[in-house]
Amino acid sequence: MGSGIAERLASVRARVAEACVRAGRPVESVTLVAVSKLKPAALIREAYAAGQRDFGENYAQELRDKAAELADLEGLRWHAIGPLQTNKVKYVAKVAHAFHALERLEVARELSKRREGTTPLPCYVEVNVGGESTKSGLEPSALPEFLTQVRALPGLALVGLMSLPPPTDDEARALGYFQALRELAQHHGLPQLSMGTTHDFERAIHAGATHVRVGTAVFGERT
Ligand SMILES: *Cc1c(COP(=O)(O)O)cnc(C)c1O
Repeated sequence: MGSGIAERLASVRARVAEACVRAGRPVESVTLVAVSKLKPAALIREAYAAGQRDFGENYAQELRDKAAELADLEGLRWHAIGPLQTNKVKYVAKVAHAFHALERLEVARELSKRREGTTPLPCYVEVNVGGESTKSGLEPSALPEFLTQVRALPGLALVGLMSLPPPTDDEARALGYFQALRELAQHHGLPQLSMGTTHDFERAIHAGATHVRVGTAVFGERT
């Protein structure tokens, strides 16, 4: 018996495509990042065999280990999507295709130092659009200064904004978080929007997501 990964992927891809059509957007305008955190490398291989190339990982050491284990998979792109401590920046700088959770200048400086002279690392700044003090991400009011500082750093390419809004049953409010992120990105001239997970990626696509980060719907529940 297979793990069902190929079928799950096909179903998520179909839902992404339908959401694009409903939103009047080209299907290629959305990248599905399959979030493989806490899932074994064997399942990533299966997803790769089914055509998936973009994978998301939260934890720097897990990313380092999986990148080493799966180094033979040509064209696989790793997206580091979790908060990062300065002492673990080296793992991300070495293997990541993009970093989605930039929110500290110290981390930006360290990433910059390690990527200078190589391919610039595409970065998304994480924003707290939900307004909760416990959530990660920058306050929108802190964005202008932070973006200016990051734009001055070599080795990094500021490409977009990212958010993981607080869960809510209020449909209008949930959409509002995504729309707020899109407006901020537009305001700051950033083309990419990393937003939407298993439970809300279709809504995120409706609101303009260019990258959706989907774990559970592709790989099953995490334990
Ligand atoms: C785990 C995680 C996801 C994926 O969540 P699912 O609900 O499994 O789709 C997306 N983004 C971030 C930042 C995550 O930590």
